[in-house]
Amino acid sequence: MTRTRATEAAGAAAMAAMRHAYAPYSRFRVGAALQAADGTVVSGCNVENAAFPSGTCAERGALSAAIARGLRDFDLLVVATEAADPTPPCGMCRQALAEFAPALVVVSVTTGGKEASWVLSDLLPHPFTPASLAHS
Ligand SMILES: [Zn+2]
Repeated sequence: MTRTRATEAAGAAAMAAMRHAYAPYSRFRVGAALQAADGTVVSGCNVENAAFPSGTCAERGALSAAIARGLRDFDLLVVATEAADPTPPCGMCRQALAEFAPALVVVSVTTGGKEASWVLSDLLPHPFTPASLAHS
C-alpha cells in the first residue's frame, strides 16, 4: 500500500496508543487506529487483565471507541507493535471488524520500521455476517 497522509496519521495514532498499552503479562504491547470514512482516527490499545480472558485487544478497543463516537464506516486500520515482524489482527478482531468493514485495509507496522498490509476479506474470507443470522 502506498503511504498517504491518512496512513501516516493513523500510524502515528497507533504508535501513540501502543505506548499506553497495558500488557504486564504478555509484554506484547499493541496499538491500533481505525480511520473512518470521514477521516476521523480513533485509537485503542490492548488492555490485559490478571483474569486473562478479561483482557481486550487494541483493535477491538479502537472499534469500541469508534462505535461509541457514532462512527460506522471505516477505511483503514493501522496496527502497531514492537514485534520483529508485522502482525495481523487476531481472529476475534477480524470477525469484529468484518461486521462493519469487510473491505477494510489493514496495515501493520513495527517500531523497527517493518510494514505489511492486507485487505480484511483476505484475512477473514468467510466471516459470520448479519446475513448469517437470517432465518429461512
Ligand atoms: Zn484481537
